[in-house]
Amino acid sequence: MNDKQVDLIIRNGTVIDGSKAPRYEADVAVKDGRIVAIGELAGYTATQTLDAKGRIVAPGFIDSHTHDDTAVLSHPGMDFKVSQGVTTVIAGNCGISAAPLRHDMELPMPLALVETTPAARFTSFAAYLAAMRAQPSSVNIAAMVGHSTLRAVVMSELDRPANAREIAQMREMVEEAMQAGAIGLSTGTFYPPAAAATTEEIIEVARPLTSRKAIYATHMRDESAHVMDSLEETFRIGRELGVPVVVSHHKVQNQANFGRSQETLPLIRETMKHQCVSLDCYPYTAGSTMIRTDRGMLEGRVLIASSDPHPEMAGRDLDDIAREWGVAKDAAARRLQPGSAIYFMMDENDVQRILAFDETMVGSDGIPVGDKPHPRLWGTFPRVLGHYSRDVGLFPLETAVWKMTGLTARNFGLAGRGTLKAGNAADIVVFDAATVRDAANYTNPTLPAEGIHAVIVNGALTWRDGVHQGARQGQVLTRSNSK
Ligand SMILES: [Zn+2]
Repeated sequence: MNDKQVDLIIRNGTVIDGSKAPRYEADVAVKDGRIVAIGELAGYTATQTLDAKGRIVAPGFIDSHTHDDTAVLSHPGMDFKVSQGVTTVIAGNCGISAAPLRHDMELPMPLALVETTPAARFTSFAAYLAAMRAQPSSVNIAAMVGHSTLRAVVMSELDRPANAREIAQMREMVEEAMQAGAIGLSTGTFYPPAAAATTEEIIEVARPLTSRKAIYATHMRDESAHVMDSLEETFRIGRELGVPVVVSHHKVQNQANFGRSQETLPLIRETMKHQCVSLDCYPYTAGSTMIRTDRGMLEGRVLIASSDPHPEMAGRDLDDIAREWGVAKDAAARRLQPGSAIYFMMDENDVQRILAFDETMVGSDGIPVGDKPHPRLWGTFPRVLGHYSRDVGLFPLETAVWKMTGLTARNFGLAGRGTLKAGNAADIVVFDAATVRDAANYTNPTLPAEGIHAVIVNGALTWRDGVHQGARQGQVLTRSNSK
C-alpha cells in the first residue's frame, strides 16, 4: 500500500491551523476522513486535488452556539452553516433540546423553536442521537440536554421551582442523556419555562455532569441590569458541580447597560483564574428570540422574524405593524405570538469588546426557522472573518480562526477537531481572506457568504464555490469518542 496515495490534496494554500500560530504555506493531504500530512507534498498523488493558491486553508468552523437540534434532521444539507465554512455545530442551547420529549405534551415557547412534528419526537436522548446517526447531515453535531425541556416534560406548572420528586426525575433524565452521549446540560432561566427555577434546582438537576466534567452552558437569567448577579450565579453553579461553564452569547442589553462589558469581562477574566469559564458571542448588535411583550425587549427597534398567526408580517417592523393595527407595541407583539423576532438592543462598542476578549468563541445562535431569520444564521462566521477581522481590524485572522476552531474544540472537549494537524479529522475550509464576507443582512437574511471556496467534512468535499456537493458525512460527537 502506498501511503503517498491519498483521497484528497489541497495544494499551495496558506495554512492557518486553528491554534493561533502564524500562517504558513503548505499542502494538506486527506485520507479516510483524516488529515494524513501537512507540508510540501510534491511526491503525493490524490484521487481529487484542490488548488488553494492565494487562499487560506483552515480547520472547519465549529459553531459554539446553535439551535440546529432538529434542523440537522429536517434540513440535512445544512446549507446555512456549510456555506459559511461551519463543519460542526453545538446544539441543545438555552435550555432547549430536541430530547427527551413526550408525545402528548404541548411545547411552550421558546421550546417550540426546535420543534419538528409531534410524531417525530424523541422520548430519550439515546433515540435522538441514534436518529442523527442513522440519517447523517452535512455537519458534525455535539448536543446538550436542555433544562427547560426537562421541566416541560416533568412539571405540570412551570411558574414555580421544581419539587424534590421533579428534581429527581429531571436528574434521572440528565443521567440518561449523559450515558447516551450528551456533552452537557444547558439552561435558559431568562425564559418563562425556567425563570422560576432556583439556583439550587439547577445544581441538583445537573449533578450527573460532575463525574464526567461535562459542560454547563447557560443563557443567563438576566443580561441586562442584573448581568453581574447572573454571572455570579453561573459561576456558583459551575463551582458547586465542579464542571466547566459556558456563558452563552454574552451581551449587555438595553441602553441603560451600554458599556457594562467593561464590568463583565474583568469579572469573567478574574473568575477564569479559579475555575473553568468560557463564553461565546455573535457579531451583531441585534439579538433574536421568541416574540416577547416585556418592555425591556421592546425598547429598541423590533423586526418580526416569524409569526404563526400572522406569517405575512415576517420581515416587518413591529412599530409599523402596531401603527397599522392602531394598537400599542406590546399589544401588537401579543397578537403576533407565537413567533420569533429580532431585537436591536446592544451597543456596537460592547459587541466589539466582547468579541475581541481573548477567550470569546464565535457562536451564531442562529434560529433556523422561517424565511426572515436573523442574518446571523447565514452570516456569523464570514462576518467575523471579513468585517471584524479584516475591515475593522479587531484582531488578526489567526485569532479570528482560533475563536471559531481550536478554542471551541478545547472548551467543548472535542478532541481531534478544531486544528489542522496529521491525525485529526479532515474538517477543513478553504476561503479567500481578501473577499470573504457575509452577504446576509436584515433585509435579505438568507444570502450565502462570499469567499468560501471549499468546505470538507470528515474528508468529504461538501461545499464548493457556492454549490452543495451532496455529501452528508457529519458525525455525532460525544464526550466518549472525543477524549
Ligand atoms: Zn439563548
